[in-house]
Amino acid sequence: MSDIDIRKEGRAGRITLNRPKALNALTYPMCLAIEAALEDWREDDDVALVLIDASGDKAFCAGGDIADLYQTGTSGDFDYGRRFWRDEYRLNAKLDEYGKPVVSFLQGFVMGGGVGVGCHGSHRIVGESAQIAMPECGIGLVPDVGGSMLLARAPGRLGEYLGLTAARMGPGCAIHVGFADHFIPLEGWDALKAQLVDTGDAALVVQAATDAPESPLAASQAEIDALFAGEGLNDILNLLDRSDSEIAAKARKALGRNSPLAMATALEMIHRLRIASDLTIRKALELEYRVSYRVMEHGDFLEGIRAAIIDKDKSPNWRHAIDAVPAVDVSRMLAPLGKDGLDLREKDKAMKIGFIGLGNMGGPMAANLAKAGHQVQGFDVAGVAIEGVNAVDSAAAAAQGAEVVITMLPNGDILRSVAADIIPEMSKGAVLLDCSTVDVASARAVAGLADQAGLSALDAPVSGGVGGAAGGTLTFMVGGSDTAFATAKPLFDIMGQKAVHCGEAGNGQAAKICNNMILGVTMIATCEAFALADKLGLSRQSMFDVVSTSSGYSWTMNAYCPAPGVGPQSPADNDYTPGFAAELMLKDLRLSQQAAEAADADTPMGEAAMALYTQFVENEGGLGRDFSAMLPRFEKRGRD
Ligand code: NAD
Repeated sequence: MSDIDIRKEGRAGRITLNRPKALNALTYPMCLAIEAALEDWREDDDVALVLIDASGDKAFCAGGDIADLYQTGTSGDFDYGRRFWRDEYRLNAKLDEYGKPVVSFLQGFVMGGGVGVGCHGSHRIVGESAQIAMPECGIGLVPDVGGSMLLARAPGRLGEYLGLTAARMGPGCAIHVGFADHFIPLEGWDALKAQLVDTGDAALVVQAATDAPESPLAASQAEIDALFAGEGLNDILNLLDRSDSEIAAKARKALGRNSPLAMATALEMIHRLRIASDLTIRKALELEYRVSYRVMEHGDFLEGIRAAIIDKDKSPNWRHAIDAVPAVDVSRMLAPLGKDGLDLREKDKAMKIGFIGLGNMGGPMAANLAKAGHQVQGFDVAGVAIEGVNAVDSAAAAAQGAEVVITMLPNGDILRSVAADIIPEMSKGAVLLDCSTVDVASARAVAGLADQAGLSALDAPVSGGVGGAAGGTLTFMVGGSDTAFATAKPLFDIMGQKAVHCGEAGNGQAAKICNNMILGVTMIATCEAFALADKLGLSRQSMFDVVSTSSGYSWTMNAYCPAPGVGPQSPADNDYTPGFAAELMLKDLRLSQQAAEAADADTPMGEAAMALYTQFVENEGGLGRDFSAMLPRFEKRGRD
């Protein structure tokens, strides 16, 4: 008998995990086999539902088979693990999004990889013996396989509690927390499976369900919510240490066993996902993959497996003490992966794209679209040639026949004039996608023209600079209709790591200038604080160490530190070669003040930042330097 039994029976596609001696631990071939079956049955009219169960009574599936990951990882091969996780996560997403009912029967241990197979279907059944947990922090990983989504959706702070302590849920708790839907006593399972096979009617599951047992977690919810309310791991430790309750003592002990870096990262993930406006399994998997991609090389994963299943000494030597995980290490684990990011897409159909403005940003963006298999015709007045892009001799020629026309131009006036040229040439229903940074009024005017011509328009300015354009890691802030956004979404996924739909036309530009007003102001604040610290005799390293983990932290300090030799690599370490040029920051600050003027908004800090960057760019040699070169400017100055 093989490790997995896949067959069609009656109206059901059946998948039985069949490694009972190994507690049905999920191997790579098992993942691929489940995915292939789901694809086979997707359009198969004989299959009305998918039924997933497991042999033996001890476990549905106690986790992923991690021995291979250890062997490959310790020999320096990180690619095997990354491929395994990518393919496993794709399966998790398919189970969550499958177009037919997926009924899972969960007995005994359901952990880690088992949750990924058993807890994303439409009808998740638990019996008396179910013990469900996400124990990944114990081996230096974070809750993955889409488990971070379930934890983020759990009531109150139960997600934090379960993710960090790896506590097990019985059937009542699993239903309360949202890892399962229905309680059906084990003795009724065989009969129900037979009926499901006969009829293909998943509604029978609901009819067979009985009252779930009490949930001890529900009873302790208020206390757990209070204990796990902290922003960071240290806050939670303090709350646990201050409490004398049994729950707190047990939780504190559990935290003492697990990887501090994994727990701090898991906590940040759950917090980020919980506030996401459109939390989907894809969003959770994408975040999880950032960690699993790095966890062998930079995390505690290999040491965690060594201590748990190789040497079995249960004394892992974690990278950090529990109360000393720097925020910057968590940020590094969760930083976007750019072109290496999780790719769950089915093969996209190639689109015909027009691309106008192939400069520092537009050139690499167009190249990435061509590399991904799209047919790109490009135009730039400077006559540039971009690999993979078919150069045409006018903006109108680039727009003809394209499903999406992208513009990446210097300013609003040029955008308006290009739009006037191309709109009459564009095919009905095509999308005009402007990624330049321009004033809100120009964005809205162009959207109006497009609308009159039966086209849709999106304003989608970017953040991420030339590096982000080349690496495909831009963030897009998008204004325009839902349907236009959906059309452009696969292109955003190629050119960037994130696209936020901000509402109607012009809202993308509004978001961009508000963001960059904050950026300009914070860069100035960070630079002037460094210059003050210099004069007070504080070393720059101490300044970074304190501020990057204290309430003064910001992106400019933590990710783009303006002081050379301190913090992560930034333009400061390259003699302030841009990066993001001071004159571009000035352009954005001017746009923000123009918009503030038009909207009658009081923005004194933005106005002061604009005045300082004007002085810097026009009179103080800032032109052509990175916008963080404000620091050497402040360094040289006194109070007058
Ligand atoms: P760029 O000057 O390198 O590119 C603009 C390109 O547009 C040039 O190649 C130019 O020849 C071309 N162009 C000008 N008029 C044209 C016309 N009528 N028809 C066709 N092509 C025309 O500038 P960039 O750095 O690529 O920036 C483009 C946009 O992206 C700007 O709006 C900028 O504010 C924004 N942006 C830039 C950065 C950055 O770091 N460079 C970051 C975020 C946003």
